[in-house]
Amino acid sequence: MFGYGCNNFTWNGTLRELGSSYPAFCTEQRRLRMTATPSSSSGLEVLLTALQNEGDVESTLNILNVLDELLSAGTDRRIHHMISKGGSEALLTALVNAGRSFCPNYTILLPLLHLLAKVGHRDRRIGMKAEEAGAVLLILNLLKHNVKYPKRAAACLWVIQVFASSVSTANLIGENHGLDVIFHLIPQYATKHLHTIKAAINAFGALLCTKANVYSVVSKGYISGLLRLYEDWHIKDTQHNAIAIRHSLLCCLHKVTHCTAGRKALISQGGISLLYQTTQICLLSKGLVSLVEASVQLMRKCLPKTPLPLTSDQSVYSFPLPGMSHDVCYANVAPDENSDESDDEEAEENEEAESRDYDDDLETDLNKLRLRPDPDRPRELLLQYSRLCPELYHDFEELDLISEPERVHHHHQMRKICYSTVLLLATPGGTEGVKNHPPPLQNLALEKETSTERHTPSQSQIKFNAQLKAYDFHSHSSILSTSSNSQPMVREARGHPPSGLRGDEEVNEEEEESHHHTMIDRLLEKHGACIPHHDPKLYHSAAAKTKSIPGFSILAFPDFWGHLPPPGHEPMVARKPNIQRQKVFEDVQRFLNTDDIINQVVFDLEDSSLQCPSDSLRFFSSFECGNLRKAVQIRRYEYDLILNADANSSLHTQWFYFEVSNMVADTPYRFNVINCEKRNSQFNYGMQPVLYSVREALEGRPHWVRTGTEICYFRNHFCPTQGRRTTFYTLTFTITFKHNEDVCYLAYHYPYTYSALKAHLKMLQQSVDPAKLFFRQQILCGSLAGNPCLVVTITACPASRAWKDMQQLRNRPCIVLTGRVHPSESNASWVMKGTLEFLCSSDLVAQSLREAFVFKIIPMLNPDGVINGTTRCDLNSEDLNRQWCKPDPALSPTIYHTKGFLYYLNSIGRTPLVFCDYHGHSRKKNVFLYGCSVKETLWQSGSAVDTVGLKEDPGYRTIPKTLDRIAPAFSFNSCNYLVEKSRSATARVVVWREMGVLRSYTMESTYNGCDQGIYKGLQMGTRELQEMGMKFCHSLLSLTKDMKALYSRRLINHIDLDHNILDHKSHNCFEDDEPPCVEEIEYSTDCPALNGTDLDSDVNSNMASDDEEEDDDDEEHRGGSISQSQQSSMKSCLFPHLIRQASIEALCEKRNTCNGVSITNGQIKS
Ligand SMILES: [Zn+2]
Repeated sequence: MFGYGCNNFTWNGTLRELGSSYPAFCTEQRRLRMTATPSSSSGLEVLLTALQNEGDVESTLNILNVLDELLSAGTDRRIHHMISKGGSEALLTALVNAGRSFCPNYTILLPLLHLLAKVGHRDRRIGMKAEEAGAVLLILNLLKHNVKYPKRAAACLWVIQVFASSVSTANLIGENHGLDVIFHLIPQYATKHLHTIKAAINAFGALLCTKANVYSVVSKGYISGLLRLYEDWHIKDTQHNAIAIRHSLLCCLHKVTHCTAGRKALISQGGISLLYQTTQICLLSKGLVSLVEASVQLMRKCLPKTPLPLTSDQSVYSFPLPGMSHDVCYANVAPDENSDESDDEEAEENEEAESRDYDDDLETDLNKLRLRPDPDRPRELLLQYSRLCPELYHDFEELDLISEPERVHHHHQMRKICYSTVLLLATPGGTEGVKNHPPPLQNLALEKETSTERHTPSQSQIKFNAQLKAYDFHSHSSILSTSSNSQPMVREARGHPPSGLRGDEEVNEEEEESHHHTMIDRLLEKHGACIPHHDPKLYHSAAAKTKSIPGFSILAFPDFWGHLPPPGHEPMVARKPNIQRQKVFEDVQRFLNTDDIINQVVFDLEDSSLQCPSDSLRFFSSFECGNLRKAVQIRRYEYDLILNADANSSLHTQWFYFEVSNMVADTPYRFNVINCEKRNSQFNYGMQPVLYSVREALEGRPHWVRTGTEICYFRNHFCPTQGRRTTFYTLTFTITFKHNEDVCYLAYHYPYTYSALKAHLKMLQQSVDPAKLFFRQQILCGSLAGNPCLVVTITACPASRAWKDMQQLRNRPCIVLTGRVHPSESNASWVMKGTLEFLCSSDLVAQSLREAFVFKIIPMLNPDGVINGTTRCDLNSEDLNRQWCKPDPALSPTIYHTKGFLYYLNSIGRTPLVFCDYHGHSRKKNVFLYGCSVKETLWQSGSAVDTVGLKEDPGYRTIPKTLDRIAPAFSFNSCNYLVEKSRSATARVVVWREMGVLRSYTMESTYNGCDQGIYKGLQMGTRELQEMGMKFCHSLLSLTKDMKALYSRRLINHIDLDHNILDHKSHNCFEDDEPPCVEEIEYSTDCPALNGTDLDSDVNSNMASDDEEEDDDDEEHRGGSISQSQQSSMKSCLFPHLIRQASIEALCEKRNTCNGVSITNGQIKS
């Protein structure tokens, strides 16, 4: 009798070492060596050669026995070794030899098939090898002859499943009616031969890895058959003994719905409803999670693609670009030819990504890493930037004139007047002046405001405003009003009766405006919040000059009024178990049961006359940074929200900021932002959107607060209106408002407007002592829409006008900081705010920093994007952080001039010591830096370049290392210093490569919170973001080499005051940035794998008995349960190697990739 078991077998050497512990092997080997092979061959090769030479039954069985023993005892490595020695070919030859005869000997054939299934399972080329050996049609024939013998049929089916890993083999089987033969082996519910049934379903599923087979199955109407089978097994398998079979059927359905025709067929056959109903029942039983998951994915995948309810994907906001016809800027999206095919491909990622494969993207060309390219412009163009170094030309006369006691007095006087040297833009970037030449900076007139009263417009301002009109830019009337809904509440807050009683509806516009102004004054008097560095009136006047595409005339209340960080910390929210599934169910119900669906547009940015029901929420977004294009009421308390694409573009939707009113208190409202673009989001990992309540603010609590429950971010079934192949994602959250009839604002993150920056800089300027602190605000250039891009210089005034002190000032190294190139990254602005305030503070560290460095800060590189509420781009629909290599002076002026200014600093020998561009990161936690290092890039890429002789200053690590110690939100482990090809046009890489700035960084701040340090588990607020900006400044002290000599003991102690947080880190934390949550977002359209259904265990259980008849009894004894029989087969495991989970996954992955290829390109062979 053929026996496989040998429990005491151990093996840790080569086959030769088997020795006397295994006499059968030795006998066999000796015998074989005499006959066939050269003596130098290894034992394995001897066995394989012998297997192919048709020997007698006994010796063939012996060889199979030995091979099986060897392969069973170890890990997969042994099988791979055998494959490398021609094991698959030997088994295939043996199969062909044994199977060819008219009356095959199943005593040999069955173990041979079993072994082939196991080995072939791990051989990527098994399909091709089988074709070459002529084994493919042979196995199909064997199957046809053995449909009545479940055990033999199962063995054939496994081998077919394995062969189908190759596209051409799968097609060959399909062309020879293999699919039909196999499909008819899948019966309605049964209790016998479950292994064989499962083998048939799996083989059927494996053959569906090719386009041709999928189309053939769909056209033959098998989808209906599969659905009916699934239904039958679902209804009758009440004891849940056949979960694996039901799961396999779902996997087949997944595969046939890879094509549009398949998905349509599934819907027309009532598949969605069947899946929905069966899933509801499966949810009642605990052990059926795998079926629920597979069904949910299937439903999501098959829900018909629904175009967004928009007339066009193009942004509502368009802006005529200089030198371009209006049509050109719209032509950035070509319709996709293949759009009716598989929707599996994801849109390219556009994020400073972490999910991409670094190794492919790393720059390995040493020349590109080391050589500095020539400047992108002639040297004479750089002179214009000398004006941006006012500290070098300022004579500090006032220092001599004022004696110390007087100086204090002088300072007080200076505070009263607005002495700013703000440059006003004489020629805003209109239709002229910006073609192929940089905007004529010499035209930027320097005018000193000398008015003694802060808020009276100066001559220059009046002139400026007049010019604005001339250039036909929208100018604001800038009245404070939220939407009309807020009026009653505001009135009430003022102590006035509701409007209806006063009959004041008919006031004309001017009266209305002045009326508003008085109202604002009274409101401020009564409720005015004391918010540091914020003045509502100053904000109001700053906003009046801000130019937006639609000409915003209304201020959002939170920006006007200001806000304070919430009093306490805000923990990340625990994700509700199965929340995604629940939301998907609700969405599927929309499709199945339309009774409670309202589906009414209640807000449309393009249609202000829209009437909406009196009991629906009101939305509004026509204000700075606002972004909401459309709101559709879906159910009584549920709304779909559609975001406006970036101006002049049809892409980039993620940022949102809008007003909502007319709510009922204590009622949960579900909001779905249905056209998000990013693949994943921190909203799945504890992050909440932010909310500001006007009523709360008027009651003395002016806070943006993290809010929302049932938050989840997942792929949906919406698509663009114009057939572009893009997948959209839904951000869903539920909000329960505290007050009736409140006016609230909801945003992706704490908004920070361009007007806020202008007002803030003005406040800062007014707060500093000009005798000590040199603060200059200048205009770098105008943006496309004519908004000034501001640059700020901060340094300490020299101690005196003595040559030595003046010289010290002129020799201070520069530190250049930029930010907010990406408009949605408002967190970057909050960090920048922290930096600016700290540098202007009387803090001793700040003072030392000012004495040591000159700070050149461009806080907002993309004013137009910020103002118009875009997510990623400037008005030219380009990502400005990809323009640094050769920025276009007309189309990317802020980048062109920032780069020019850096060239200028370079040319006068003042290359910045540090450059840092502040960003926000949507998919990671913590704050971290990206830097640039030749060595680290080469190491990481595995490049062959010898790095031993390469010299590199490791100074780029000093700041991140220091930050890791002193900044609670900072994570050193998340930093990297790799130069990627895809980032070659970013600020960080260009400033490093072209300007030779060693410490050139991107600072990435999370939108969410931290997973380490003292803020672990907490969401970031503006307080923490500002603190980060301050800590970044602190870290710069580490660059002053002789810090101890330079700064007094007192100062060092001062820094050490932070000692309580110095050791806040667990320095060995290598936690994932996005730890897996209870349920990962499931983006895969493939059937989720079912644990424990590996082919091996099935094969093993088939081997438990060798005889067809016995098997039947056996199964009945076991109650026909696959799981039970699997367990028993594990115990008596004849191939006892349990494969590690990792290798299973690796294998599955390999197969999936392979399948993916085959579907998109039927010609590719594995
Ligand atoms: Zn960014």
